[in-house]
Amino acid sequence: MIKYVYSFGKGKAEGSAKMKELLGGKGANLAEMASIGLPVPAGFTISTEVCTYFSDHDRTYPSTLEKEMDAAIKFTEKTMGRKFGDTDDPLLFSARSGARISMPGMMETVLNLGLTSKTLPGLVKHTNNERFVWDCYRRLITMYSDVVMEKAAGISPTEGQGIRHQLDQLLDGMKEKNGYEYDYQLTVEDLKSLASAFKTRIKEVLGKDFPDDPKEQLWGAIGAVFASWNGKRAISYRRIEGIPDDWGTAVNIQAMVFGNLGDNSATGVAFTRNPATGENATFGEWLANAQGEDVVAGLRTPNPLNEASRNEGNTLPSLENLFPDLFRELITYRDHLEEHYTDMQDLEFTIEDGILYMLQTRAGKRNGISALRMAVEMCQEGLIDKPTALKRLKPSQLDELLHPMVDPEVERTHQPLAKGLPAGPGGASGKIVLTPDKAEEQAQKGEQVILVRTETSPEDVHGMHAAEAILTSRGGMTSHAALVARGWGKCCIVGCHDMEIDLGRGEVKANGKTFREGDVITLNGTKGLVYEGELPLIAIDPAKNENLGVFLSWCDEIRILGVRANADRPEDADQARRLGAAGIGLTRTEHMFFEPERIKFVRKMILAEDPQARRDAIMQLLPFQKEDFRGILTAMEGFPVTIRLLDPPLHEFVPHEEAQQKELAVEMGVTPEEIHTRVQALHEFNPMLGHRGCRLGISYPEITEMQARAILEAAAELVKEGIDAQPEIMVPLVGHSKELSNQREIIEKAYEDVKLTIGEIPHLAIGTMIEVPRGALTADEVAKVADFFSFGTNDLTQMGCGFSRDDSGSFLPHYIEAGIYAVDPFQSIDQTGIGELVRIAIEKGRGVKSNLKLGVCGEHGGDPDSIHFFHKVGLDYVSCSPFRVPVARLAAAQAALEHGERN
Ligand code: PEP
Ligand code: MG
Repeated sequence: MIKYVYSFGKGKAEGSAKMKELLGGKGANLAEMASIGLPVPAGFTISTEVCTYFSDHDRTYPSTLEKEMDAAIKFTEKTMGRKFGDTDDPLLFSARSGARISMPGMMETVLNLGLTSKTLPGLVKHTNNERFVWDCYRRLITMYSDVVMEKAAGISPTEGQGIRHQLDQLLDGMKEKNGYEYDYQLTVEDLKSLASAFKTRIKEVLGKDFPDDPKEQLWGAIGAVFASWNGKRAISYRRIEGIPDDWGTAVNIQAMVFGNLGDNSATGVAFTRNPATGENATFGEWLANAQGEDVVAGLRTPNPLNEASRNEGNTLPSLENLFPDLFRELITYRDHLEEHYTDMQDLEFTIEDGILYMLQTRAGKRNGISALRMAVEMCQEGLIDKPTALKRLKPSQLDELLHPMVDPEVERTHQPLAKGLPAGPGGASGKIVLTPDKAEEQAQKGEQVILVRTETSPEDVHGMHAAEAILTSRGGMTSHAALVARGWGKCCIVGCHDMEIDLGRGEVKANGKTFREGDVITLNGTKGLVYEGELPLIAIDPAKNENLGVFLSWCDEIRILGVRANADRPEDADQARRLGAAGIGLTRTEHMFFEPERIKFVRKMILAEDPQARRDAIMQLLPFQKEDFRGILTAMEGFPVTIRLLDPPLHEFVPHEEAQQKELAVEMGVTPEEIHTRVQALHEFNPMLGHRGCRLGISYPEITEMQARAILEAAAELVKEGIDAQPEIMVPLVGHSKELSNQREIIEKAYEDVKLTIGEIPHLAIGTMIEVPRGALTADEVAKVADFFSFGTNDLTQMGCGFSRDDSGSFLPHYIEAGIYAVDPFQSIDQTGIGELVRIAIEKGRGVKSNLKLGVCGEHGGDPDSIHFFHKVGLDYVSCSPFRVPVARLAAAQAALEHGERN
């Protein structure tokens, strides 16, 4: 026979904390608290299996349930020394939901069950408080009619016509008639006449009598709690949080204890440590003469639990001062529970006429800062070990620490204007600017600006850099804007289709409103939300957080994966090093071509008529590039630096607007028509599949030669100066081994020369990106001519799934909604599809070269779920933008803890 009901109370319990799936979080912890001897009002939990049965069997119950319930009620009665439905000294029950994980406020609760015309006098006699009893009755009628008789019955009244609202109106009418301001001014007579008016109204509106039988009330409440699992609120919450529908909720039936029995009674919540700061100090609030719902409803300002919890300006007495004995008792339980659960607990308690009862314990919710502090301190105190400490922080919580964010308290009170994709975390406020030049100009004047564009291109980087944040109406998670912003740790939202940008009029339209350049907006890049006006930000300096250094050093002890950074400039490399990167996994060289004094040589090279002119132009870039590489190799001294040869299609470097073309014509001594014709000739229908990557170096070998020489000369000079420069030259977009051997030959030839003229480079490697599916499938061939592979999972996803990196924003959200892909494959690697290409390439590559070095430098290198995958398939390292390095260190450690050693 399946057991459906689990009792608890007075040092005994049939369940335990381990049984969350069956008893829900609340029920499992009530059982645990009872069995370790804490004063929990007795009761029982009806399992989640009954919820599933109830849903599947037209709201009926398993046949054995009633018998089990009767036994559990007897146990509770015996433990509490009172009887349910007794006319002399009645026991009342509460019915509360409790799913496997907490779903705050999503399901129903009914209190004071068992009050009827027959039991009322008994409770009055027992409590000697007639007003209190009638107040309980009024609360029961309100809750029961709303939750059981209306909601659970599937009645959905029009807004403002619900039974609860109608009863509240009767209550307000009574207060108004008597000139009362507060509920507590209602007299016994008022409450009695209200109860009768309530019942009449219920009969009128719902066509049924309010039940006057304890058992009927109890079963009604149980059914309503189970039914609330399939209520609208609960269903949409489950969708957002990804909670499966078949988990079900348990129902907890527990003896009522009253915090509203008089001045010797109270109710409150306590956290075993401060949930905002993580400080090891009990934090909490309480209210005298109140029920739990009063604390949650926030109608009265709660008192501080202890002096350590006192907010500035709150002069109400603390429990610590007013009831020192009870406070000490509570602290004993606090200590016991934290030690027992080895984690910060969120407690609920009630004091009934001077006796303390514990009503709930659960792991307390916390923000990033407090989670970090608690994990480190609990480990240092010996409460938990290092692996446990490392599992206590979600990677996203670490992310919180590294970016200023919109103050969540203020954000809660604002409606977003528009929503896009969360491409760069953190928050930012500033004036709207629509062009990169204006962004730069205004920023130089000290203005904080947000660059709002349809999409960005490499030509925009100066303005992107100057702006506080970037907002684009198109593009996906690996669009240019997303990539660049993340590299700088800049707040960024892309694919914000709700925004319409009219560059000509200098306007942005969103949500029916029109904004002009200069109007202020705020972005929450962690969530992808845009707000009108300025919302305050909370800034955090990671270097000032000692706990972070300690915590990350523990991650490094445990992880197997190496962590490098994607960085294009020496200052970014420095930043990456400070954040713990052991090398650069990708330096994109194209940004270096856009500096004003260089772009003209690039353009001359592109527009050159013959190879000699092209060569002359490109070689003028060599001294600049050499300086770039000296800088970055020096910043990463002692660590490898992977430098990628030029990758983007050439049309990105030429001007498309007439005025700029004219300017260039003058500079080059040709006619504007000639420039125009050449630019037209560079046009491609599918530039992402066009003349880019190693195809450039194959058509124009002098580009590869110039870049290789610049890297090799810089490194050889540094080595000669005693600096341990470790360049890795990476060829992009290789799909055929012969593409790589072609480029490798040019690089090796350059090295022969450099060796003779400057000297050797002890740590030099030549390798390729694996980002074309053919490259992955023929990795055994490619590996023969490569010292390393770095997976370019952005392009590998683009070409493997056939989704444009730049245009997928228009349909991918529908794919996610329809459940075709669970997450955006540009954000978190598609393990079964693109991941399979990675696996094949690893197997084939290592098959011919066992010491082939393997890494990933696509955006997935900084995504925690993808990092778990890369750990499992055996990569040597991941590479991500500098600000994601700490997150990657944590995710890599968690992957090692979860999946262990690898083969
Ligand atoms: C990639 O394709 O994954 C990659 C890192 O290169 P890029 O994003 O520059 O194309
Ligand atoms: Mg690529």
